[in-house]
Amino acid sequence: MGNLVAIVGRPNVGKSTLFNRLTKTRQAIVNEQAGTTRDRQYGKSEWVGHEFSVVDTGGWVVNSDDVFEEEIRKQVSLAIDEADVILFVVDVVNGVTDLDMAVASILRRTKKPVIMVANKTDNNELQYNAAEFYKLGLGDPYCISALSGSGTGELLDLVVGKF
Ligand code: GDP
Ligand code: MG
Repeated sequence: MGNLVAIVGRPNVGKSTLFNRLTKTRQAIVNEQAGTTRDRQYGKSEWVGHEFSVVDTGGWVVNSDDVFEEEIRKQVSLAIDEADVILFVVDVVNGVTDLDMAVASILRRTKKPVIMVANKTDNNELQYNAAEFYKLGLGDPYCISALSGSGTGELLDLVVGKF
């Protein structure tokens, strides 16, 4: 079956952009509007001789906060069940939100490796914003820009090191 890396987090943090970069496809729909990718999307990736699968989660039509949080919980629980490594994506531009905290509280309960990815770190100044994510209790935020690809190589080194 091989290793599976799950990408989780609230809408609009850049999960699908990261998925597309890791799988080198344009499979996942990236949109300016939150919640465009439906349910789950699987792809293949390879890094320094390690082949693995990646699953992008999310794509919720936001009707009410309740439905929404419930859907996020479901996706995060599935990721915890099936994945070998979990990438928890947060966004340095928008900072910590209530939904980030809800996701983090679930992820803090798993023994599986969780890497907190501080996305949208498009420049060095934005790295300072990432300090805020320590309060989510999941260790060091790992700064990347899924859009430009900066930091993603180092992130992949970290990921394959967990297999
Ligand atoms: P998802 O809802 O978490 O899957 O987020 P998407 O991948 O659909 O991205 C949401 C928005 O954030 C889109 O407009 C992306 O272009 C943008 N985005 C994603 N990654 C980055 C990044 O590294 N930097 C910047 N500035 N924008 C990004
Ligand atoms: Mg998406």
